[in-house]
Amino acid sequence: MIRIAVANQKGGVGKTTTAINLATALAATGWRVLLIDLDPQGNASTGLGVAHSQRQQSSYELLTGQCRLEQAVVPTRVPRLDLIPATVDLSGAEIELVELEDRTHRLDKSLVDASARWDICLVDCPPSLGILTINSLVAANSVLVPLQAEFFALEGLSQLLQTIERIRARFNPELSILGVALTMFDRRNRLSTQVADDVRACLGKVVFQTVIPRNVRLSEAPSHGVPALIYDHRCSGSEAYMALARELIDRLPKPAAAA
Ligand code: ADP
Ligand code: MG
Repeated sequence: MIRIAVANQKGGVGKTTTAINLATALAATGWRVLLIDLDPQGNASTGLGVAHSQRQQSSYELLTGQCRLEQAVVPTRVPRLDLIPATVDLSGAEIELVELEDRTHRLDKSLVDASARWDICLVDCPPSLGILTINSLVAANSVLVPLQAEFFALEGLSQLLQTIERIRARFNPELSILGVALTMFDRRNRLSTQVADDVRACLGKVVFQTVIPRNVRLSEAPSHGVPALIYDHRCSGSEAYMALARELIDRLPKPAAAA
């Protein structure tokens, strides 16, 4: 099973929107997808229409060893897309896990049996570089970094890259950067174009060709509890996420991409 962490310690850059819609796009192309909501805010869970009453077992119980993976999984309205939801309890995990010797490997260990059931797993990370994001980087094969096409886009990125480097050196030598995805791009705004050019000049080929436009349908969809790709599959945002999924598949190791 391919494991991808969707991470950026900045809030509001499009992590959750990317995780939900990429997961949906991958499921639509036939992959069996598991999305793990690792943000105490639970936006991915809400955005996929999983009510709080359906979150008895969540990523919190999973990380703290109070339930097994199968118990925490809930189906979504999207065929082939399953979710491990998040609740506010997860905000306590940061402190609770500190005590545990294997605190950085809790997610990794809980996914050992997942390979038989899903082809790919996406982890929606919280806006911090704390123990939750570290767990997802330890468990992942690669990282997808959403970057908002705004002034200061690159600020803080070096901190994330340093964290990835540290995880690679200490715990997970195979961790790679799958790509950087520019989000909320506004073609009419010269700053957006300028930022996109700067980001490409600075980071090079790691930046996906596909750019996610600023699109109101993407921000409306979560309030209806469905991914934008279901809410309006023809809007520019949905089309961009389908294109990003194709580009992502092309970047995956060959045997996996053929699966
Ligand atoms: P993060 O998970 O990084 O905090 P979100 O995906 O929740 O970011 O996005 C932050 C806000 O911006 C949300 O209200 C979301 O609906 C909105 N948003 C995200 N991507 C886009 C986009 N491409 N166009 C318009 N709104 C977007
Ligand atoms: Mg989020």
